[in-house]
Amino acid sequence: MKILVAVKRVVDYNVKVRAKADGTGVETANVKMSMNPFDEIAVEEAVRLQEAGKAKEIVAVSLGVAACQDTIRTALAMGADRGVLVETDAELQPLAVAKLLKAVADQEKPDLIILGKQAIDDDANQTGQMLAALLGWAQGTFASKLEFVADALNVTREVDGGLETVALKLPAVITADLRLNEPRFVKLPNIMKAKKKPLAVLKPTDLGVDVTPRLVTLKVQEPPKRQAGVKVDSVTTLVDKLHNEAHVI
Ligand code: AMP
Repeated sequence: MKILVAVKRVVDYNVKVRAKADGTGVETANVKMSMNPFDEIAVEEAVRLQEAGKAKEIVAVSLGVAACQDTIRTALAMGADRGVLVETDAELQPLAVAKLLKAVADQEKPDLIILGKQAIDDDANQTGQMLAALLGWAQGTFASKLEFVADALNVTREVDGGLETVALKLPAVITADLRLNEPRFVKLPNIMKAKKKPLAVLKPTDLGVDVTPRLVTLKVQEPPKRQAGVKVDSVTTLVDKLHNEAHVI
């Protein structure tokens, strides 16, 4: 089985995200960038399937600026075998990403594609679903457990109020939720080894995909600043403030 894993370069989850002063987007200049945390989970799952003898090859794919090579190298250090970068400076919206991933899948012919359930920068939660639709493949989104049973892949999904298990026929698209696994720490020797693993660079035009954005971002703004709390000296004052100031009781 061959697995394709989509890895996105995003603002590191420890960084406090700031809106650009002109409201056109999020500030990314001089900001630490890392692999989208849900994509780390996706890579980890692929590597575990390979370690369990279920997968032969793992290809990590990233789409975006040249620096996405670093994100791919991280996936290679975690255990992916080779990388594909579709390089562009253009803004990529989920539909364009899904079309590019479909084009890569048409070339690579994987049995399974694992993505994160959402990217923590755009919070779109769209790409996996669009990709499955474009490919006409089965999809298991918000996956918290994968289990191969006979010729099916059982996917346990985190849904409102519980867990749902669906049986998928391969080829299929999976999107990884938080509880699927805990990604491993990358060890230095593996970082060194990853530098020697193959990484192909393509352009969207090589894949015949038009990545023109379909949506216009009107404005990006930060949430209103929270006011500092106060300490009250008695329950009576608290009840009074909740009643007369906050008007919640
Ligand atoms: P989204 O639909 O934008 O929330 O992203 C969902 C998932 O799609 C991410 O967790 C990634 O696995 C994948 N993805 C989105 N954008 C990219 C990108 N530019 N490069 C690689 N993977 C991506």
